[in-house]
Amino acid sequence: MTLKAGVVAVQGDVSEHAEAVRRAGEAHGRETEVVEIRNSGVVPDCDLLLLPGGESTTISRLLHDEGIAEEIVAHVEAGKPVLATCAGLIVASTDAGDDRVQSLDLVDATVERNAFGRQKDSFEAPLEVAGLDDSFPAVFIRAPVIADVGESVEVLAEWDGRPVAIRDGPVVATSFHPELTPDSRVHGLAFFENDGVTLPEATASDQ
Ligand code: GLN
Repeated sequence: MTLKAGVVAVQGDVSEHAEAVRRAGEAHGRETEVVEIRNSGVVPDCDLLLLPGGESTTISRLLHDEGIAEEIVAHVEAGKPVLATCAGLIVASTDAGDDRVQSLDLVDATVERNAFGRQKDSFEAPLEVAGLDDSFPAVFIRAPVIADVGESVEVLAEWDGRPVAIRDGPVVATSFHPELTPDSRVHGLAFFENDGVTLPEATASDQ
């Protein structure tokens, strides 16, 4: 069965995430059809969701204005997977540390916007990620720091002594941008190697 992957497309990085999830699906023997999410009514049909980076204040406002926010919450409550990256992590966190961000409350974490790379706006780092055999080339762009996490959260990677990739049930969230390199292993972890998620079974036609 082809999986429907929804990319929240109110801002940036949409085609990169679409490519990454297609490649990750291929690597796990699953075909994916990607749909872009700009309005309500699309999320309920999606098997998995991507919440890309951008500007967290704008993203959270649009998600709430368009009625997409509550659909994403229902998706997670149903145990379906989400990968939230950078501003997506900020929007997904219980405490975004900024009143202008209306949180979706999907991952039990406290974040600080723009706290990584204040001197250097962006950098790339080889990251050891739990579940991956060798290091992942992580691109950080005005990235948030994860200052604190709740008990339900598993830390998947740290940089500079601080968590930069976390998992809370069906939601994997990263400070960095895994869609900006040809390496789609983090997408693979989030969607196809996460025991905490519910995905429709593969059928013979997928193989
Ligand atoms: N600096 C952005 C914010 O705080 C996040 C940056 C990104 O998504 N690359 O909203």
